[in-house]
Amino acid sequence: MIHESIAIQDGQFRPYHQISVSAEDRAVYFGDGIYEVVRLYGGCFDALDEHLNRLYRSAEHISLTSLPDRNHLRAMLEELVRRNRLSDDGMLYVQFSRGIAPRVHRFPGEAVTASWFAHINPLKRPVDIMHKGESAVLVQDIRWLRCDIKSLNLLPNVLASEEAAKAGCREAILYRDESHVTEGASSNVFIVKDDVLRTHPANHLILNGITRQRVIQLAEELGVPVEERVFGVSELLEADEVFRTSTICEVCPVTVIGDHTIGRGVPGAVTRKLQEAFERVVTAGRTTV
Ligand code: PMP
Repeated sequence: MIHESIAIQDGQFRPYHQISVSAEDRAVYFGDGIYEVVRLYGGCFDALDEHLNRLYRSAEHISLTSLPDRNHLRAMLEELVRRNRLSDDGMLYVQFSRGIAPRVHRFPGEAVTASWFAHINPLKRPVDIMHKGESAVLVQDIRWLRCDIKSLNLLPNVLASEEAAKAGCREAILYRDESHVTEGASSNVFIVKDDVLRTHPANHLILNGITRQRVIQLAEELGVPVEERVFGVSELLEADEVFRTSTICEVCPVTVIGDHTIGRGVPGAVTRKLQEAFERVVTAGRTTV
């Protein structure tokens, strides 16, 4: 974008450089808020309704009651794309906090309403990595017991991602203990063993990724058996294929974990089949899961 990008703050469109967050925002003090990241392909939102469903669900689970009306928010986000004249691939970031109030842990009174902002950036698809695969490291999952809420509290994810980066990898795969792999620091993890696809059940220990849900649906459509059940570290390392999914990385093969090569060290057949099916969804502009 050559023109200045436009963002939204508390329901008002503003130049991006003018948006700011107060030092007294509860997002700053406590990470007391929620967020979503939504993909745009060719200037169109992908699965916006699913992301909004999860946003309002997260809000409900942290008792954040003062979000704008959903249809109004949706219309504002669509308008944001138009105002930015984005016609390429990109991403939307939108976050809501419990508002601005002096630093007291308990909720502020009802007079304090959610503060929020949203912005859009151009973002290319990770074509090269989707093709070649990438490496990951194993990091212990030290997060809380409500990982199903897309909360702003991401410190354990940040620390795990930094460990991965220091090891020259793009993702940390998290495990609670040897018998329990959960997900990535910012993605869901799938394994393939004997042509069966396996991923952690959608419970309180993972974020139920929108991409995860789409991949499960595509696998079922392709006749690939899917099991949503817990697997351990050795099952992960001995898998024929491993891949991870997210709005940003799409379906990304993991070919090396720590010093273990997965399968033959190249993206596997089931992964590639799912990538192709994912591609068909994206190019058809299908906007629901
Ligand atoms: N798990 C975690 C911890 C994440 O941060 C993300 C990325 N938002 C995901 C899974 C994947 O979710 P989605 O496919 O909705 O981007």
